Amino acid sequence: MSHYDKLMAHYQSIHHFNHAQAMLGWDAAANMPVGGNDARSNAMAELSVHVHRLSTQPQLADWFESAQQETLTDAQSASLREMKRQWQDATLLPEDLVQAQSKAGSKCEHAWRTQRQENDWQGFAKNWQEVVALSKEEASIRASALGTTPYDAMLDKFEPGTSSAQLDGLFDEVKTWLPELIEKALAKQASEPILLPQGSYPADTQKALGLEVMKLLQFDFDHGRLDQSVHPFCGGVPSDVRITTRYDEQDFVQALMGIVHETGHARYEQGLPKAFAGLPVGEARSMGIHESQSLFFEMQVGRSQAFIEHLSRLSQQAFQAQQDPVFAEDNLYKLYTRVQKGFIRVDADELTYPAHVILRYEIERDLINGVIHYQDVPELWDAKMQASLGLTTKDNFKDGCMQDIHWTDGAFGYFPSYTLGAMYAAQYKTKMTQTVDIDAAIRSGDLSPIFQWLSDHIWSQASLYSTDELVTRATGEVLNAAHFRKHLEGRYL
Ligand SMILES: [Zn+2]
Repeated sequence: MSHYDKLMAHYQSIHHFNHAQAMLGWDAAANMPVGGNDARSNAMAELSVHVHRLSTQPQLADWFESAQQETLTDAQSASLREMKRQWQDATLLPEDLVQAQSKAGSKCEHAWRTQRQENDWQGFAKNWQEVVALSKEEASIRASALGTTPYDAMLDKFEPGTSSAQLDGLFDEVKTWLPELIEKALAKQASEPILLPQGSYPADTQKALGLEVMKLLQFDFDHGRLDQSVHPFCGGVPSDVRITTRYDEQDFVQALMGIVHETGHARYEQGLPKAFAGLPVGEARSMGIHESQSLFFEMQVGRSQAFIEHLSRLSQQAFQAQQDPVFAEDNLYKLYTRVQKGFIRVDADELTYPAHVILRYEIERDLINGVIHYQDVPELWDAKMQASLGLTTKDNFKDGCMQDIHWTDGAFGYFPSYTLGAMYAAQYKTKMTQTVDIDAAIRSGDLSPIFQWLSDHIWSQASLYSTDELVTRATGEVLNAAHFRKHLEGRYL
């Protein structure tokens, strides 16, 4: 048996444990009675320890060295590279740091749930200080291994190969045109009448409607399902993808588009190459590329005029409301493209969303690089919020820097993925238009040509290439914010 084959078997074994872990996690969020929580947490923690042990076994270092001397195909070399990346990631941090982070993160996140409601920045800061300090320690260890700045080393966990120099270029450009575009869109929409949903919309009916929309999007129900959870997500494994949503019986708008979004994540997973199943090279390329799929489904397909026609027809049927003007095509389109300045990222529309992300990116970059102190964050948040959206968060911590869960347990470097995904999606659209009549495919109800393009260029490529290579092979160039601008101007002006 070659060393490459030994490594392959080893990583497939790790994958089986991760499979079990994913299903336990989905069950905990979607099905489990409250009384099961403690035992489940213990079972999942035990599995994590086991996976960590498998991922850091001492003989792996020798296997990697020997495998590098073997004759490998291009795909096998890529596979070896990705296994090694996961191995380096698993072995990089000392165990006591990982444990301290896990403890400080859980404590901070748990207390944050009530501190946020109470607008208690001082209380939060006491716990968060520790989380930030440990994250900076992690960043400095990663940075010396990768030869990057501390923040870039954290970014690498979610966006391998992407640097803050690249992000600065992209985001600074967006900042030059976004504020004006938001103002123009708001002025245009101010005079347009819109009918807001008036419940009630029973959850069962919303689910039935969601399943119809998933069929239109060719979700593979033999390899996945739809359930409910408090925080919507896409989990499971490629052969059995679990997506969830949450229903508001007063308003169907968000849940319905949430299902479109999660279906995009799910189809990427379902479309990953079977030949590399269970191997790191067969996994999604990055968080940003994952989000590029969910946002292609949501923003490029889901909120298009052509797709809204389907949503209008299907929702009228589902709610038996053929005469209800709320479901009329032009009203639904307005509901799904309405721009509003607000404090909260997760409630933000497509156009103001990047402003929320860029603000977070700039703060976390400077925080992890040691340019600013954790106590500077509320003031900086307020200043940046005023500059980008004209809103002040002075003394309003709960709608400011305390609103997201990400930083409470040290997930620094994650936020850029959202806007990178939106930018990639716009760029795919530009390229896809050259060979696919996207609107015609959507209107016909057979969206196969769109999915075939995504499958050929993104899903089937998994992690065979770096992100830049993947995107260049798909679109002819690396990420370029001009496509995003063109898309937003086309939709909102
Ligand atoms: Zn997503």
